[in-house]
Amino acid sequence: QRLLPRADMVSKRPWTENGGAADAPECGSCDASEAAPAPSVPSSSGRSLRKRPWEEEGFRCPFLDTINRTLLDFDFEKACSITGNNFNVYACLVCGKYFQGRGTHTQAYTHALQEGHHVFKNLHDGRVYCLPDGYEVVDQSLQDIQSLLFPTYDKETVSTLDTKPVYSRGVDGSDYMPGLIGLNNIKDTDYVNVVVQSLSRVPPLRDFFLLPANYAHVKSNLVKEFGALLRKMWSPHNFKGQVSPHELLQAVAHESDNRYKIGTQTDPMDFLGWLLNALHAGLGGTRKPGSSIIHKAFQGQVQIKTYKAAKADTDADIDVETQMTPFLYLTVDVPPAPLFRDALERNIIPQVPLFACLTKFDGTTFQEMMNGDRRQYVITRLPQYLIIHIKRFSKNTQQYVEKNPTIVNFPVRNLDLAAYTELSDTDKEKNVQTKFHLMSSTQHDGQPESGTYRTYVHFKANDQWYDIQDLHVNGVHPQLISVSESYIQFYDSSTS
Ligand SMILES: [Zn+2]
Repeated sequence: QRLLPRADMVSKRPWTENGGAADAPECGSCDASEAAPAPSVPSSSGRSLRKRPWEEEGFRCPFLDTINRTLLDFDFEKACSITGNNFNVYACLVCGKYFQGRGTHTQAYTHALQEGHHVFKNLHDGRVYCLPDGYEVVDQSLQDIQSLLFPTYDKETVSTLDTKPVYSRGVDGSDYMPGLIGLNNIKDTDYVNVVVQSLSRVPPLRDFFLLPANYAHVKSNLVKEFGALLRKMWSPHNFKGQVSPHELLQAVAHESDNRYKIGTQTDPMDFLGWLLNALHAGLGGTRKPGSSIIHKAFQGQVQIKTYKAAKADTDADIDVETQMTPFLYLTVDVPPAPLFRDALERNIIPQVPLFACLTKFDGTTFQEMMNGDRRQYVITRLPQYLIIHIKRFSKNTQQYVEKNPTIVNFPVRNLDLAAYTELSDTDKEKNVQTKFHLMSSTQHDGQPESGTYRTYVHFKANDQWYDIQDLHVNGVHPQLISVSESYIQFYDSSTS
């Protein structure tokens, strides 16, 4: 049964205004589910020789002015608002809702007839159509909407992101700087936001993901969504001064079998470790060093010397094993925190320097293992970008998560790891840097199981520090960062 629009539901067409209804082209004359406008086949009948209005030279879609940019948001799952189907979905550019299909009987087509909304954008290929007539709208004025849906970059723009600050204004009037944009907290997803904020400013990683040609061959949906989110975060064409990571979160939930999902607060370090490995695998990375951009940026190596526990019934020499282990981040322990009270019975939170935590890697300090083995660690290869995990959370005997509130002091610039490294001769010859500058620091506020995460980031383009908590981006003094309850830190070894 064909859907026949009631006359009062259809808004007036431009050609009915002068030509009269008799000259109007048949509405929705195609039955194919994905209808293209019916070509006007020349025939002996005079009527069909006549061009449709949109086939005339210089025709401009009369509905372009009905587009409402303030209602457009392409950050959410591209699924039909009626069927939930995510195949062949169009956004109504008048009300912002998503509908499936554009042929007769489809949700978009019906929406056009019922609501009198006529301009629809295909969310998969970006093409714009006027419904129910079905002609494609090609108009330069739609370019900003195309850039919102698919932000694109060229190599030259990418190369200036850290040197040239850009100031943008959304259609809602919000001012923002591309690359320094808040992320929506969908529901307890701040643990994802802090990780994305940290990763999105590691230059080689960011530059790689901003140019989709770098991973065009990759099938991993996680890789694609991570790239799409970074392109939105660095885009000067956002309509709002914020981005929603909804589609990445869905890819993460799917890829991790719901280990990381919307609505369940999770440890961001646990998530970061998983994400790095999942992106590495999704990009086709192998065990070979440097086989993905993830390993190129973050992989280092530690030498572990294990002194086996002497067996009581033998007096043989102590068995020593030396093993080289690659790492993507280093975990350091915070010394147990006795909570002192001062004369006024206020709790005093202890402070330790990061260097005290790093002695674990000095090659001489012993770490006692549960089985009685003792280990010595030393870094034998430094990555270009170093991630340090300051281990604050632990489960007590009742399986409750406890947080060590000790404040770890660290230098924001020139953290020297020379005392914790034994570099190879080649690395020494190459003059590999042992000094690192902080790029970002994530911290936890509040109770162990219910608190929230925020991250401090260094914005290279203007050399300023910012405190980013979900949607909120505020300038911050670097001195505040160096005495915070830091949990995850990203450092840059470049000599700048
Ligand atoms: Zn609409």
